[in-house]
Amino acid sequence: MKKVNGNGRGLIIYGALLLLGVLIYFYVSSMYRNEDTSYTNDRLEDDLKENRVYAVNILQNQEIPTGTVEVLFKDGTRKVYYTPDVKVTEKLIQNGNDEVSFHMLDVKRPSVLEKFLPYLIMGILFAVLIGILLAQMSGGGGGGNSKILSFGKSRARKIEETNIKFDDVAGLVEEKEELVEIVDFLSDPAKYINLGARIPKGIILVGPPGTGKTLLAKAVAGEAGVPFFSISGSDFVEMFVGVGAARVRDLFQDAKKNSPCIVFIDEIDAVGRRRGSGLGGGHDEREQTLNQLLVEMDGFDENSGIIVLAATNRVDILDPAILRPGRFDRKISVNRPDVKGREDILKVHIKNKPIGDDVDLHKIARTTAGFSGADLENLVNEAAIAAAKDNRKFINSSDIEKSFVKVGIGTEKRSRVVPEKERKITAYHEAGHAILFHELSEVESVHSVSIIPNGVGAAGYTMPLPENDNIFNTKKKMLQHIMVDFGGRIAEELIFEDVTTGASQDIKQATATARDMVIKYGFSEKVGPINYETEDEEVFLGRDLGHARAFGENVATTIDEEVKSIIEYCYSEAKKVIEANMDVLHKCAELLLEKEKIDGEEFDALFSKND
Ligand code: ADP
Ligand code: MG
Ligand code: ZN
Repeated sequence: MKKVNGNGRGLIIYGALLLLGVLIYFYVSSMYRNEDTSYTNDRLEDDLKENRVYAVNILQNQEIPTGTVEVLFKDGTRKVYYTPDVKVTEKLIQNGNDEVSFHMLDVKRPSVLEKFLPYLIMGILFAVLIGILLAQMSGGGGGGNSKILSFGKSRARKIEETNIKFDDVAGLVEEKEELVEIVDFLSDPAKYINLGARIPKGIILVGPPGTGKTLLAKAVAGEAGVPFFSISGSDFVEMFVGVGAARVRDLFQDAKKNSPCIVFIDEIDAVGRRRGSGLGGGHDEREQTLNQLLVEMDGFDENSGIIVLAATNRVDILDPAILRPGRFDRKISVNRPDVKGREDILKVHIKNKPIGDDVDLHKIARTTAGFSGADLENLVNEAAIAAAKDNRKFINSSDIEKSFVKVGIGTEKRSRVVPEKERKITAYHEAGHAILFHELSEVESVHSVSIIPNGVGAAGYTMPLPENDNIFNTKKKMLQHIMVDFGGRIAEELIFEDVTTGASQDIKQATATARDMVIKYGFSEKVGPINYETEDEEVFLGRDLGHARAFGENVATTIDEEVKSIIEYCYSEAKKVIEANMDVLHKCAELLLEKEKIDGEEFDALFSKND
């Protein structure tokens, strides 16, 4: 910013400010300097005699003997003078001319503050100007700690001393292990430098939102006891050209002065997208910022004690230049927590919260598959709010359950009156899903079934219980998941001989799974193990428009046919399973209509009674 404005233009601005200050000074002070020292009671006597006076006002205040007299003349002029003896003035008027109107006006004399106001304004203006000039001189070419004119720095940059420790980051065991050496390096850079060890300059943390990337970066700084400079890529997006780059430059300048330290660039994808990918093309602000970042990354020495951490949830859209050696050449993926991780995260977040004996963290962890650390934190917080609303001193399991639905699926809304017919359809629909979860070998068993609407569109839900966190999906498992998806629709069809629009989400999900099987995982023999995915995102970004569909009509037709045959197979298989369990379907629907929500045990019991 300073460089943009330059010194010449800066001086003109200061000059103008100074001039303005002087003008304000004279204007304000003139308001208090209008008395005429040459005018006296004697001259007033003359003027009265010669009939020149129209009115006289004695402006009185607490200090009456030394009053101010205002004389208004017939020719429109006006004089104000001080007199040590107002009584004399008074007499003059009474003895003089009856036509002269006379008033004792109660006015406030200027207070001490008012008297000094002009000087105060001047003083402040001077202090500010001198401050700016000094900061400018000491700041030299661009660094400086001047906060006054550093428009280019203040907003997107933060420096923090964090006291977050690795213990505050639950789970993420391997991720933390990878960062231990970074902490050690930052705490004692000399140890590494003396051995000639090369420590990575940049590490990129990749993972979905809320998985603890920011937390982890802060914990590294906290463990090493070094300053934490952070900046977020999204802050640059709507900025003026040149500002983003200037901020990056300033950030690194500050970091160099404060090394060892951590520089954290959050949401690096906002600036770090592949260059030249925008449809508008060309040299935009983002690109300048990215270039500046790369220049800075290359500009400091490996062992200068600065470690740059960055976070993103889209490593695939990053400009490859970012990931080149000497820049962000190490990648740590931060994943959603598994069952154990979830339990540990819950433990961290209930630390300062009173928890009832009926709260089983292990069970909560098992039912929250797919929740991120942030979701779990939110869950515990919502539960605390629910407990407080009920005026309880501790959180019980029903609080957790309520917030579980709120956080995981949406708000639990019992208030909307659901028509009986709709409830019945939903009950059979969910029972259909649940039966398939129970009967199929590769899918999870049922955790709970509910027909309580969540307020965001879903009339009910069937929640599976995760047994373990698998990395791989198998073909068989994917097929069975499609079958489960159709369970709702099939139950509706069998019972009501009609179908509703309520299954649209299920159908969407089933179709997506079937398509992935064909074009992504090579599970279709006719199509073969070839990836036919289209990069939807990239098409929007304008990159490789020609690649939107890199295959011909024939392949497209085959893909569609294969997807259709998978869907048809799953639909008929699922229908067989439900038809074989019609009694459970009825019983389950009835129980749901009665209780609105049943848990896994209650559901399983419907089968055992049947045997
Ligand atoms: P990200 O940067 O990956 O989007 P954050 O680090 O900002 O996620 O996480 C948001 C919040 O979620 C944290 O402040 C913390 O309360 C909670 N959280 C996320 N992951 C964890 C974890 N592994 N352990 C404890 N809390 C976590
Ligand atoms: Mg974050
Ligand atoms: Zn459904």
